[in-house]
Amino acid sequence: MPEGPAWRQTCKTILHKLAGDDIVAYFGFLPSLEIYQNSLPEVSLHSNTHIRISSAMLKQITTEDELAFIVFHEISHSLLGHNSYETSSKDNFGLDIEREADQMAFRFMKSAGYNLSAPHHLIKRLGEYEFENTGLTVAELHPTLLKRQSLLQSYASEEPRLTSS
Ligand SMILES: [Zn+2]
Repeated sequence: MPEGPAWRQTCKTILHKLAGDDIVAYFGFLPSLEIYQNSLPEVSLHSNTHIRISSAMLKQITTEDELAFIVFHEISHSLLGHNSYETSSKDNFGLDIEREADQMAFRFMKSAGYNLSAPHHLIKRLGEYEFENTGLTVAELHPTLLKRQSLLQSYASEEPRLTSS
C-alpha cells in the first residue's frame, strides 16, 4: 500500500465499513492511526487507541482487506483489555493473546464484508519477510506467526460461502 494521503482515507473507510456512521459509539473510543518511518515491518498500539504502522509494514500490505485485518487486530487488543500488558509491539504478545485478537479481528472482517483469506495471506507474507543482512525471516524470529497463520487459514476455510461471495 503506498504511503501518502491514500492510506489514511482507506483506514477511515475500513472503520466505517465495520462501525457504520458512529465509530466512537461502536468501539467506545476513536482509533487514531499513524505511519512512521522504519525499515522493519511493525505495528503497535499505544494508549489503547493509537495504532502506529511502520512504513515497511505498509509496503507489505497489498489490499484494503489486509489493512483492515491489521487495524481490526490492534483495535481488538484494546477491546479485549490487553492494554495491561507492558508492551507496545504485537510481536511481544504471547500466542494466546494474539489468537484472541486474531479471532475478534476475524469476526470484524466477516461483519464488514472483507475477504476472509486476507488475514492468513498477509501473515504468511510477513512471516517470509527477510531481515536485511541476516538471512533470517520474521517467522524464524517469531514462531507464533506460523501458528497464527494456520489458525487464520482454518477460520477462513470454515467460512467458504462468505469468501466466495
Ligand atoms: Zn497482536
